[in-house]
Amino acid sequence: MPLCPKCKQQHLRTFEKGLGCTKECGFVIWRTIAGKKLTDAQLITLATKGITSEIKGFTSKAGKEFSAKLKLDGEMKAVFEFATKKG
Ligand SMILES: [Zn+2]
Repeated sequence: MPLCPKCKQQHLRTFEKGLGCTKECGFVIWRTIAGKKLTDAQLITLATKGITSEIKGFTSKAGKEFSAKLKLDGEMKAVFEFATKKG
């Protein structure tokens, strides 16, 4: 497993509810985001590259389905990244 992007000392591990580092480090990405269950591969991509490719099947609070990338913000939390229209 790759190294944790936050402490850069411990190796990440996946578990049922997500992917994370040690308790002391506190880095964690929850597996279920906006009703979508992420795969281990998607979680690892997010942790190592800081951004995923577009993922389909999220559900908004209003019940609408949407697609978005996930990225890590400055506090190492998973946030949505929406495609920006060019031109
Ligand atoms: Zn860590």
